[in-house]
Amino acid sequence: MLKIGIFLFTNDLRIEDNPALAQASREMDKLICLHCSEQPTPSSTIRGPAKLSNHRLYFLQQSLQALDQNLKHHHQHLLMREQSVLDIVPELITLYNVSHIYSSYHAGWYENHQWKILTSRYPGIVFQQQHSHSLFDEHQLPFNVADLPDSFSKFRRVIERVKIIAPEPALISMPPSPLAENSFKPLAESTQATDNGMFEGGENAGLRHLNRYFSQNLASTYKKTRNGLDGMNYSTKFSPWLANGSISVRSIMSKLRDYERDIESNDSTYWIFFELLWREYYQWYARRHQSALFTFKGIGTGNPSTSFYPERYQKWCNGNTPFPIVNALMNQLNNTGYMSNRGRQLVASCFVHELNLDWRYGAAYMEKQLIDYDTASNWGNWQYLAGVGADPRGHRKFDLNKQTATYDPTGEFVHRWQGSSNFEPLDSMDAADWPI
Ligand SMILES: Cc1cc2nc3c(=O)[nH]c(=O)nc-3n(C[C@H](O)[C@H](O)[C@H](O)COP(=O)(O)OP(=O)(O)OC[C@H]3O[C@@H](n4cnc5c(N)ncnc54)[C@H](O)[C@@H]3O)c2cc1C
Repeated sequence: MLKIGIFLFTNDLRIEDNPALAQASREMDKLICLHCSEQPTPSSTIRGPAKLSNHRLYFLQQSLQALDQNLKHHHQHLLMREQSVLDIVPELITLYNVSHIYSSYHAGWYENHQWKILTSRYPGIVFQQQHSHSLFDEHQLPFNVADLPDSFSKFRRVIERVKIIAPEPALISMPPSPLAENSFKPLAESTQATDNGMFEGGENAGLRHLNRYFSQNLASTYKKTRNGLDGMNYSTKFSPWLANGSISVRSIMSKLRDYERDIESNDSTYWIFFELLWREYYQWYARRHQSALFTFKGIGTGNPSTSFYPERYQKWCNGNTPFPIVNALMNQLNNTGYMSNRGRQLVASCFVHELNLDWRYGAAYMEKQLIDYDTASNWGNWQYLAGVGADPRGHRKFDLNKQTATYDPTGEFVHRWQGSSNFEPLDSMDAADWPI
């Protein structure tokens, strides 16, 4: 009897170094390559923007199109559905007598929940998952996930000694699909989507970017430049392709090691690894803390003293706060779908500590805007800055004036992104306006 499987693409939108896809290709006679764009999201549990930003949508659309093209080189194609996995998978199981379902592990609680529902509904089907979004497989960790070190430093000290798995050899062939080939359909909502001109989605574009980055020797100065606010070269800009899995973190590590061997190994090249370990920490942190990643008190014991003020929230989103640097950064985010790491720290600090807003609304806004949105990195970093996450020193408050003087000393960034043109007082109603 023919073995027919489904490969469920999630945040692994690539052909190369995709261990679960390689396994499915080896084991199945026929394979359905599926992507469901209706994803369960943490932000749907609280009020926030309902839709993905046009930038995020555009980048996703390009990434899916590129994946479909690459699958075609293997006589395959991508079945795209704007439905939930829980709606479409049961239909395919019945229609094609599916016996196996494959996917990559996802750090997100909501995504895992869907997978668990499927596995409990279909005990007769073989479900297989592999790690393709992290540097390490779970069995390599020198601790159980439940015993994840409670700070990044402790984690780094033990994990740095573990050998990183090399990327998989190139995929040679794939089994054919049992479905008739259909032409690639854009996501319905993506007709409004816009190109930010900075990032091109997809595996081939991601690999080109990776090669370009290392061929320009930028890695040798990364540690000195990484806190920049604007431009393509001050930091690696790997995050958009890493987030949806168009390139794998193990391929990046392999390129970094080649660079260190052939060109130069210094503090800066080590620091790229150091930052990738932060990413790694948050992947396992999300697995460890599950739905607590999205709760107000996070992994702490008490609720923060912040709240939700709709007017302040809107001003932050629209870049109309009394803080020019924050306005410029938010304008940059709204216009490109990207913001530097330093920028994210400043706007998040402002959100929580100056505007006294409930951190989850800021995280939910970034979830919709960022083209490099990653469940674990986004919600983990927000928790950290709000003082409800993995930070032994409690909450992080940045002095916005001092930060502006350090990172935008000439005012060029604030000027370029019009941070001073639109600012308004924090609240249009003050205490004197309250009716007695
Ligand atoms: C409030 C907030 C929200 C964030 N949301 C996201 C998100 O949704 N997706 C995301 O990928 N990153 C997120 N980050 C982390 C970081 O800002 C971005 O990874 C980084 O700015 C991406 O640009 P880059 O690739 O040029 O980074 P580089 O400085 O070149 O770093 C190299 C890589 O290391 C990883 N990395 C660097 N810093 C961090 C960090 N603090 N946490 C986790 N990984 C890190 C990323 O994978 C990055 O691509 C967030 C940070 C903050 C403070």
